[in-house]
Amino acid sequence: MTNRQPNRLKMMFAALAVTALSTNAFARRGGDDVGNGGGLAEQNFVVALENLEKYAQICLDLDACQLNDSQRAVLRDIIETASVARDLDKPLIFVSEKQEPGTFILNGEMKVAKTGLKPGTPIYINTDMIYSKNIFGLVEPLSISQAVAVLVHELGHHVSKLSHSELDLIGVRVSLMLQNHVQTTPVLPWSPDISATIVQSPKGESFPQILLRVGDMLWDLGPAFKTSVFCPKFNIPIPILPFPDLQFGREAPLGVMYHNVHWEKSARENSGGDYTIFGNLTHMCDSRNVFMAVNSFRMRISFQTALDPQGRPVFVNNSLRMEQSYEPWYKLIQLPR
Ligand SMILES: [Zn+2]
Repeated sequence: MTNRQPNRLKMMFAALAVTALSTNAFARRGGDDVGNGGGLAEQNFVVALENLEKYAQICLDLDACQLNDSQRAVLRDIIETASVARDLDKPLIFVSEKQEPGTFILNGEMKVAKTGLKPGTPIYINTDMIYSKNIFGLVEPLSISQAVAVLVHELGHHVSKLSHSELDLIGVRVSLMLQNHVQTTPVLPWSPDISATIVQSPKGESFPQILLRVGDMLWDLGPAFKTSVFCPKFNIPIPILPFPDLQFGREAPLGVMYHNVHWEKSARENSGGDYTIFGNLTHMCDSRNVFMAVNSFRMRISFQTALDPQGRPVFVNNSLRMEQSYEPWYKLIQLPR
């Protein structure tokens, strides 16, 4: 059996700490089997496993997830043992059923994944089932949310005696709740070349995960984002338009939501391009021990790309800029009674 294994997540810290979530060597596998796709589905599985606790917790935090007590207990066990799964040298093993016939046939059915019955057994992923063609005939990878559904099912086998269909249900619920808190926005709707994915926890006191995909690479902009946002130290609201609130100083926020995110006009020439992501910020600020939501800022994230010899875009190191600007996008106006 040929074991296909992504390299462990490679960490890179630039001036604005940007974390590369995978390497080219890993990214070029898997997807190549089906034309293109560049290993994007495999990357999504790696991201899903790396963040499984955080993603599954969204379901536990929300009544809307609608799990009963025993299902919640299984999910809690899955969360508790996710790190055991990751500690393996090869936690995820990508195998093509076509190349290794019979690997994923269980009870006469072809499965997307399989694993053992105790924590710390690797999860085998069927690379023939993690890409599909969209209506343009282009290959699309399984999303992070879909990968989470598969992993919750497989990790469920490690910690419970539940059946495949019972584990499917838990996996799908977790995946749906995650999907409600994920915004993925590609520059071009039919191309996976450049896209941003923002994962926002439902808790106010948290920071978003911002995953930037450029070509075959995935970058985690979350840590850089966290260091780039700030609350005003003093805020005197002026409830009259068009006068701005009076704000002084800078302070670290308790949490920030990045929403209404879109791409600004971007230009691409033959050799590369300039891109900007733009969105509204809602800060949770501790203003003299008063918890306050601030809707006065927006965030511009810009970066540059170049082209690799295959004509695929690559992120230009040190080109990342994050700029929080004062642009109140919402104001509560109190009218005199
Ligand atoms: Zn199963």
